[in-house]
Amino acid sequence: MNKENMNKLLKPFTPNRDFNKDPRLFVSSDGMYFTNDKGDKVLDACSALWCCSLGHNHKKVVEAIKKQAETMYFSPSFNFGHPLEYELAEEITSITPKNLNHVFFTNSGSESVDSALKMALAYQKAIGQGSRTLIIGRHSSYHGVNFGGTSVGGLLGVKKDYNNLIKAVHISSILDIEKNAFSKGIPKYGKEKAKSLQEAINTYGAENIAALIMEPVAGSGGVHVPPIGYLEEIEKICKANGILLIIDEVITGFGRLGTPFAVQKFNIDADIITLAKGLTNGAIPMGAVVASDKVYDGLIDNAKMPMEFLHGYTYSGHPMACAAGFASLKAYKEEKLFDRVLELEDFWQEEIHKLKKHKCITDIRNIGLMGAIEFSLSPAEVFDIYKQCFKNSLLVRPNGNTIAMSPAFIASKDEIKTMIEILSDAIDYMQS
Ligand code: PLP
Repeated sequence: MNKENMNKLLKPFTPNRDFNKDPRLFVSSDGMYFTNDKGDKVLDACSALWCCSLGHNHKKVVEAIKKQAETMYFSPSFNFGHPLEYELAEEITSITPKNLNHVFFTNSGSESVDSALKMALAYQKAIGQGSRTLIIGRHSSYHGVNFGGTSVGGLLGVKKDYNNLIKAVHISSILDIEKNAFSKGIPKYGKEKAKSLQEAINTYGAENIAALIMEPVAGSGGVHVPPIGYLEEIEKICKANGILLIIDEVITGFGRLGTPFAVQKFNIDADIITLAKGLTNGAIPMGAVVASDKVYDGLIDNAKMPMEFLHGYTYSGHPMACAAGFASLKAYKEEKLFDRVLELEDFWQEEIHKLKKHKCITDIRNIGLMGAIEFSLSPAEVFDIYKQCFKNSLLVRPNGNTIAMSPAFIASKDEIKTMIEILSDAIDYMQS
């Protein structure tokens, strides 16, 4: 690789000019560690980008991909199929709530979100509710980078350069640092924030609203955990108004909160959930939309044309991704890794809250094996802390004035302790 020519590549969500001066490059990975181009092992506190929950280069996933590559690495997704995509759909729906039974495969979280939004619109039209075209999102939420996801997403920083997005309405964020700072797990206050959904309905009319999409725990915005009772209230309002509830589980899906999906943790009834990341443990890009019987039947039974859902990707249900997904789900099960999240959750919570001693920290939030620290510092200062962590062989995730962490489910208690110690030292160093 020629370091003089780094501008041949435009990197995603990266300050390219700064990165190219001192690039952080990985050349291999194993378990909890990456190895960088200088030969140093870097402890991964983030399952890379919230996706390698089994740890890196899981042997069974590697084997499954190799085997599938030799057997058939591609088969056409339109009008043809292959057995593995049906097997994976069955495996996924064996751990979803009993009403979520129908899988549509995509290649990323962003595609899952846009597919779910289109599915919601198509469903409303199919059941004779064609006036329902508006989608509601929530401030501070992230739903990927495609046009639909960018529009319904509520992180203004990632939307501001695009002024031709689709129309969407956003309800109040659930973050309330004044009342809930340093809550451990689910915060107490803020259930009433669900009222902003009712207000949006009063303003725009239920008859014009197709769906509400929300992350159960807002991940990229900085781990915003829903307050007690909030999601139940949201579900009730959606049901009463014929609005589909889409729960974006791209981060929370596949055990991050200790249950297969967050809808089970919070005991809510979603019409559609969106998935990606942990589905293949990051090994091959893949996402999925899982629709309820109501949505699936509504689409299929009312279709006037032979093709019921006019939507799809060349790589939907890609055989290699299916092989990786099947092996990942098997590994979660065989190694009882969702239970391991529950076993580690309290330890993780106690460790991350040790960082409260730093005066520049204004909030710490956690649930399952995810957590974020919010600073009173500028995003540039927080980015410097992230760089200092990397110098000391730790990968954390900076985002604005927060740093998030989401260790793989195989993390040992010692590794978790090391994550917190290196981050704590980096904060001290940058503040000294
Ligand atoms: N939805 C949520 C909740 C996410 O966290 C993400 C990515 O972090 C996405 C959608 C987009 O996923 P991808 O980056 O795979 O397109």
